[in-house]
Amino acid sequence: MSSAAQTIKERLGIAEVVGAYIKIEKTGANYKARCPFHNEKTPSFFISPARNNYYCFGCGAKGDIFTFVEEFEKIDFLGALKILAEKAGVELAQFQHDRSKESEFDKFRSILETATVFYEEQLHGNSSAKFALDYLLERGLTDETIKTWRIGLASNEWRNLGDYLRSKNISNVEMEKVGLIKQTGTSVYDRFRERIMFPLFDSSGRVVGYSGRYIKFPKAKMPSSSNSSSASSNSTSSGSASSTSAEQSTDESKEPPKYLNSPDGPLFNKSEILYGYHKAKEGIRKFGYAVLVEGQFDMLMCHQAGFNNTVATSGTSLTALHLEKIKRLTDNTMIVYDADKAGLKASLRAWELALSLGMDVKIASLPKGEDPASLILEDKEKFKNCLKNAKHIIDFYLDILDGEGKTGRELWKAVEVEVLPYVLAIESSIDRAHFINRISMRTDIQEADLRAELERLMIKNRSLNSGGSGNTGVGNGDGGASGTGKGAVHNETVSDHSIIKGIDDLSDSDKKTLDRLIGLILWLRDSANESKAEEVLKRSGTFLDEISKKYFDERISSSPTELSFEAEVLFAGSTKLDHDIEELLLEIEERSLKQTLSVLMNNLNKMEKLQKKDEAMEILKECQNVSLKLSEVQRKKKLYG
Ligand SMILES: [Zn+2]
Repeated sequence: MSSAAQTIKERLGIAEVVGAYIKIEKTGANYKARCPFHNEKTPSFFISPARNNYYCFGCGAKGDIFTFVEEFEKIDFLGALKILAEKAGVELAQFQHDRSKESEFDKFRSILETATVFYEEQLHGNSSAKFALDYLLERGLTDETIKTWRIGLASNEWRNLGDYLRSKNISNVEMEKVGLIKQTGTSVYDRFRERIMFPLFDSSGRVVGYSGRYIKFPKAKMPSSSNSSSASSNSTSSGSASSTSAEQSTDESKEPPKYLNSPDGPLFNKSEILYGYHKAKEGIRKFGYAVLVEGQFDMLMCHQAGFNNTVATSGTSLTALHLEKIKRLTDNTMIVYDADKAGLKASLRAWELALSLGMDVKIASLPKGEDPASLILEDKEKFKNCLKNAKHIIDFYLDILDGEGKTGRELWKAVEVEVLPYVLAIESSIDRAHFINRISMRTDIQEADLRAELERLMIKNRSLNSGGSGNTGVGNGDGGASGTGKGAVHNETVSDHSIIKGIDDLSDSDKKTLDRLIGLILWLRDSANESKAEEVLKRSGTFLDEISKKYFDERISSSPTELSFEAEVLFAGSTKLDHDIEELLLEIEERSLKQTLSVLMNNLNKMEKLQKKDEAMEILKECQNVSLKLSEVQRKKKLYG
């Protein structure tokens, strides 16, 4: 066993394995990434190809390719071994299937795999299914796409799949658990009937559920009427729309729902599943952004046309879980907006969420009456142009306001209600400042007024949140909130102390000092003193205030060679390098604490003016903590001076 693991480890690099799951970035001899195991805004997750392992300075997660896959996929060692063996092309003869030893999840997966093959055969190995295949081709899918995405067909019979799976010794209980059958009383029948079956995959490409699109079977070709009549008497009690008998389904008004999804279960969670994600991971990293569409056909047509960074939500609106999945790979999302849809409001909450997660959200709007699939079918270039012309969500709204020709009081009101909530949701204070400037330029509203209004909104939200109303408050609060339900993300943004402080608030001497630290780290890395560099990085990460950290991260990621050179000049000949480093770190810690203190004091003043006693008290406590730390640092600094 260990030799198989050894062979796999030799064939697969840590960067290759981790890089298939999350966005990684080269930094010197190593790679860094935002840690997938804890929530963080700036990368502290490091991958070392030389050591063939990873380590997170934030949460302490560490290990090799196997532990990474185990933790990421939430599977056991054996599961990780299987996945990686396949990736490495290593045969695992000694792990041949033994049903009794399989974990429950493995069993569920293998049931779905069997069902998927069955559905595929129904579509391809059956001349009476030609109408379904024709339909798919008509919609623009190629044979290759149909096969690659394992599209299948569920017949119009009541127990077609169930009977087949029972013949394979799979129990009704198991089938029901994975959502393939329904049981009501003594009646057992297939959940999916008369449907094109789109398998939904987990991030490793294993089938975990289905989305079934209703397709009307030609009447003459319906083989069995005995089956359906026996089931229909019982099934009416289930009350679901899918329990119509074969006869009833010919009645137009009783047509079953267009799409039917697997119910949430042990493997499947529709608020998390992104259709196409397992194949889009590569493309998303390559293009540097994810394209988000709504429908199965849209996603398939996008991939077919080469936009293989596309994913789709499946039968639910965009949720925080979806966004977090995307965020592992990129910060940039492009939402393809179908101008024909019920309206912007439906997605409003999701877009705010994306912004509050620190993502850059662009909107590509399609011509009226088109969806991605239809537009690609018409002309791929037209779709490409829509993506090219995508606008940041705030510009998108400003354009709408422009089009409405509002002025004066009306314009101000519209900006307040429709645009500022998005600015408030933006995670980065620098980006917020940027958009305030942009809005001011386009509306002629003074920046100072916009800032003041933003602060008012922020305070309003905060008091709403602390009041425990459950309403996260950002935005105008109506509609579109369905399915997201992760208000905590907002609270974080809202309680941000430095809403309008940005890098520009750093003094030149603050920046210079930070530059020295950055140079030091870069130089340590260049001179193969990785462990020291990482130690310094880790330590500075513990005390940098938000604004300094922002500056630090931006500077260090561009690795300015002059800084490293400067550090070399400063430190290379030093006989007391550790002492010098310590001194520099203390200097920066002192500045950071002062910076934090000034932001806190500012807020304290505000709260006192607003007579928010409780909040003022809390901030005061924080101030005291920070000043205690500050005097401690100053004491230490004297010892080094
Ligand atoms: Zn971590």
